[in-house]
Amino acid sequence: MPYRPGSRLPGERAGKLNHLDVLHSPLVNALVRQFETPNSEQEGTGDGDDELEPKWTPFPEGGEPLRLVFAVDGSLQVVGSEGFPTRELAFVKTALLRVDAVAVERLDPFAPHPMRLKDILSEAALYHATAFPLRNLSLPGESNYNAIRKIIFESIKDESLHGEPMSTLKWLAYEKWSSRRPLSPGFQCPICEEEIEGLPYDAEEGECPHCASHVYLSDMLGFHLEMGEDSAPQSVASSYMLIHETLLLFTGIKHYWESNPRLLNRCLFVKDGPLTLRSQYSKLVIPIRRLFQDALARGITIHMFGQEKSGAFVEHLASIQRFAPSGPIVFAPSEKYIRTNVQSAPLRKEPYGLRTNYGSKLFVKLDDYHHLVLSTPIGEYDANPTLQQYIGITNILATLPQLVSHRHECALVPIVLANGVASLSTYPSAQILRLFAGL
Ligand SMILES: [Zn+2]
Repeated sequence: MPYRPGSRLPGERAGKLNHLDVLHSPLVNALVRQFETPNSEQEGTGDGDDELEPKWTPFPEGGEPLRLVFAVDGSLQVVGSEGFPTRELAFVKTALLRVDAVAVERLDPFAPHPMRLKDILSEAALYHATAFPLRNLSLPGESNYNAIRKIIFESIKDESLHGEPMSTLKWLAYEKWSSRRPLSPGFQCPICEEEIEGLPYDAEEGECPHCASHVYLSDMLGFHLEMGEDSAPQSVASSYMLIHETLLLFTGIKHYWESNPRLLNRCLFVKDGPLTLRSQYSKLVIPIRRLFQDALARGITIHMFGQEKSGAFVEHLASIQRFAPSGPIVFAPSEKYIRTNVQSAPLRKEPYGLRTNYGSKLFVKLDDYHHLVLSTPIGEYDANPTLQQYIGITNILATLPQLVSHRHECALVPIVLANGVASLSTYPSAQILRLFAGL
């Protein structure tokens, strides 16, 4: 960007000569040639390394479209007071929707009637909302740090959802679908910072064995590692939102598991965003992978995917899909493909997503207008899964064409609906939230 004009000297002019200099620079030329290398490989004229070529295959045959689709999404709004010191709080909203795929297919894909949409949504959504004090706000008699820990615990127990997300957290943390009776995953005490081995089976609350402080099962997730003593960053609220979305989705699975597990074979669970739990929140990844595997061993297929709408994978798919055959086709990228072509990074010691992902990446091209980056569980971790390892993939792929939205590019109706239900636009305005919160 050129310099702005000062008081005495005119601003720098980005003259033509400057551009020419740039274009004639040997360094720039060498760099630009390198920048272009990955693309030429994607077009199939690369260095001949077979593993770096996208291996598209047609959708497998014999899939049954899944009729009951569940979708989850969340949103977050931060409001602050004017004046000093600034007080700040965050509102978080999450929703789980149940969508009948047949009803979605009957909608006019270009201009769905709002009343028909309302019919589809009625009696089909679970909502949750909560608020966090981020700066210069607290609960009476509590530090901000302890206030947020308590709010997180009580929010997960939200009575308006009959405490379901908490019982789902216990279901996952203690692997309650199995006959194992493990301690909860271990965690660092939020008060004395010593390592706690885990809470006893089925406990929601407990005591630190080192400092006797009261601890919550929700502390196991490690929200306190993001917080300061007096204030919490906005990322605590967004982490809470992501965890709560995940718990809502698994609340749907747990519901069928406990009432009629066979019905899971006909359900599809959809999340906006990848099936990933980053850093300290990844403790739930191992139990979640085990759930998918244990279900398979019992003849139950849990169909789930997350759709990524931005980021390196989405950009990469946009660049390669033009050179791919016509859809519907699918491609499961290898570890080497991801590191080299998507992340442009060398292979690392730790395989991609080993700790954080409970779904493996999948590129899907439905037709010339719709291509999707999905992640789908494969059970136990494998850096290089084959398409057959993606759990329930034949049925999932058979369902996708019914779910495509023609109002947005590369969009799926259940995710669009969940965005709408959980979105900020269904909140009161920031001004009303501010008044409501007394800021
Ligand atoms: Zn302690």
